[in-house]
Amino acid sequence: MPTRGIQAVRGMNDILPDQIDRWEFFEQSVRDWMAAYGYRNIRMPIVEQTDLFVRSIGAVTDIVEKEMYTFVDHLNGESLTLRPEGTASCVRAVLEHNLLYSGPQRLYYSGAMFRHERPQKGRYRQFHQVGAEALGYGGPDIDAELIIMGADLWKRLGVSGVRLEIGTLGSAESRSVHRTRLIDYLQRHLCKLDEDASRRLHSNPLRILDSKNAGMREIIEGAPRLLDDLDEDSLIHFERLQQILREQGVDFEINPRLVRGLDYYNRTVFEWVTDKLGAQGTVCAGGRYDGLVEQVGGKATPACGFALGVERVLALVMDSIIPQAPPDVYVVHKGDAAAGFAWKTARHLRDRGFQAILHCGEGSFKAQMRKADASGARFAIIIGDDEAQAGEISIKPLREAAEQVRVGLAEAADLLKRA
Ligand code: ATP
Ligand code: MG
Repeated sequence: MPTRGIQAVRGMNDILPDQIDRWEFFEQSVRDWMAAYGYRNIRMPIVEQTDLFVRSIGAVTDIVEKEMYTFVDHLNGESLTLRPEGTASCVRAVLEHNLLYSGPQRLYYSGAMFRHERPQKGRYRQFHQVGAEALGYGGPDIDAELIIMGADLWKRLGVSGVRLEIGTLGSAESRSVHRTRLIDYLQRHLCKLDEDASRRLHSNPLRILDSKNAGMREIIEGAPRLLDDLDEDSLIHFERLQQILREQGVDFEINPRLVRGLDYYNRTVFEWVTDKLGAQGTVCAGGRYDGLVEQVGGKATPACGFALGVERVLALVMDSIIPQAPPDVYVVHKGDAAAGFAWKTARHLRDRGFQAILHCGEGSFKAQMRKADASGARFAIIIGDDEAQAGEISIKPLREAAEQVRVGLAEAADLLKRA
């Protein structure tokens, strides 16, 4: 079949070489950042049993109702799903490999996630997340740590204007009290509910408060607040979290309407939000999920985590702080003897830690020098048959006004290092 005209799947992006400096700078920053807090990397498969997500994220959520890439593996009839998020997979992996046996775990992952959403700026069908999960920790100190890590990352990346919103969902029991009050209230405003909300009235009323439909704003504003139904322990937990954040100089706003789009959260929830990205302003979101480990089949284990949207964060990273990584040298050569010596020179320099581009293809010296210049390399290495015979190379600085020098290959690495 001809492949002409085949395009990438809608909402799934190629990341091109011109964008890679930014991605690699980010990825290296993330590795250093996570290591600084003692979080260890874990890598889960991209595909999981569908049930894992239905059970953990919740059947009546946007993700499970309409965003999952689910398919039947026709070879064995299993229902599989491309992961829409990482927490469920991470918890599954931790349980499967008994990692909690050796105590609480601080873990992080990064990679592609898949959601069938309407593609727009900052919202894609394949996107990337970095997530951190602290499993086996019940106190507000770990919630604070995860939040403070966010503040630290913005500093490391030179990102400004991201503000922190926190909230609490209380315990499962206090939420069920609240739920009854909320359903009562919403039932009194039935005619003002949109289709989604009417459908969720009994199955997931809390999620109605997270609606992005502007027509629902008024009824949401007037709804009973979960904060007023909170249990004592959750309130103390929330107070202590705020105290740590204040002590550590991290500014926050309390958002009583913060519910998050997944069912497994309880107590602390938080979002890092920016105004610079239009409607897609949440760059990082997380919270506590004390019930999830048990729900996925393990022993009751408290836990807290976050996931950040890599594309959205990268959109905030300034170009100026991205280091450029041009090659060190570009090797130009002309003539049969020169070609062999050029290969040898490039290998010799790479073995000593230099990034060397060897000119491939035909081309006059002049044309090759133009390519050397365009490559961004600091030096052109020029080899003609004459140089090759003498075992020497000419080094021409391309970025500064210095003389071209001719040296033996054995001295070249030292000379380049000193330059
Ligand atoms: P939103 O309210 O924007 O739909 P969400 O609550 O569905 O976000 P989470 O499941 O909490 O998002 O995912 C964590 C982060 O991942 C988000 O804050 C966002 O930065 C990013 N993210 C989520 N969905 C997408 C997407 N489709 N494309 C790009 N980034 C996304
Ligand atoms: Mg969403």
